[in-house]
Amino acid sequence: MTGYKENQLIHIDPIEAFQDNYIWLIHNDQNSIIVDPGDAGPVISALERKNLNLVAILITHHHADHIGGVMALQEKYPHIKIFAPQKDKYDFVNISLKNGDEINIPELQINYKIIEIPGHTRGHIAYYDKKNLFCGDTLFACGCGKIFDGTHEQMYNSLKKISALPKDTKIYCAHEYTKKNITFALSLDPDDTNLKLRKALVSNMKNTIPSSLEEELKTNPFLKCTSLEAFKRLRDLKDQY
Ligand SMILES: [Zn+2]
Repeated sequence: MTGYKENQLIHIDPIEAFQDNYIWLIHNDQNSIIVDPGDAGPVISALERKNLNLVAILITHHHADHIGGVMALQEKYPHIKIFAPQKDKYDFVNISLKNGDEINIPELQINYKIIEIPGHTRGHIAYYDKKNLFCGDTLFACGCGKIFDGTHEQMYNSLKKISALPKDTKIYCAHEYTKKNITFALSLDPDDTNLKLRKALVSNMKNTIPSSLEEELKTNPFLKCTSLEAFKRLRDLKDQY
């Protein structure tokens, strides 16, 4: 078995759902993990098309467009493990996770570290495997999530936490908002060279995710805020945009 872990190929594919959601499918040639299945239909289609067994579901937060498909998937694949934030309440049986926890998915030989990133919701968590971050509705490409049952201060601190990860971390968020977010960012800073480059780069792309933390640090206005007050002002501006 020596070296197997390094040699096995892990793919991360987007499954599109609703208007602009991404449900992430992490898989090798047999087994798979699903992140935030808001809808079971497109997940089951993808699993059957690729002939994959589902072994685990990772939930980042409690919004319906992230958990709506869980019950149907649990019914179809009764042996799956479902992981979810400890600070939320769910109708389905789950393994609840808090900051610093580590989970292992043996079928894919993957470990995830749990990072609490509240703000969009108070219980929001991310799953981090040292290369990829599944961050739900917290950090978006060139933007960040709205504040629902969390606070601006929580979101500000969560973005700081993510900013401290290695720069080559791939950012897998849960919505395709990139072009709209770049348009907003350019409305604030029309001459920003990095933003103009990014706009050109994504102009012909349908799927712009994942991005990298390095790219976000260069172009994401929410990561450039140096005070909570500035962050609040920016979030309010975006909410009204
Ligand atoms: Zn959400």
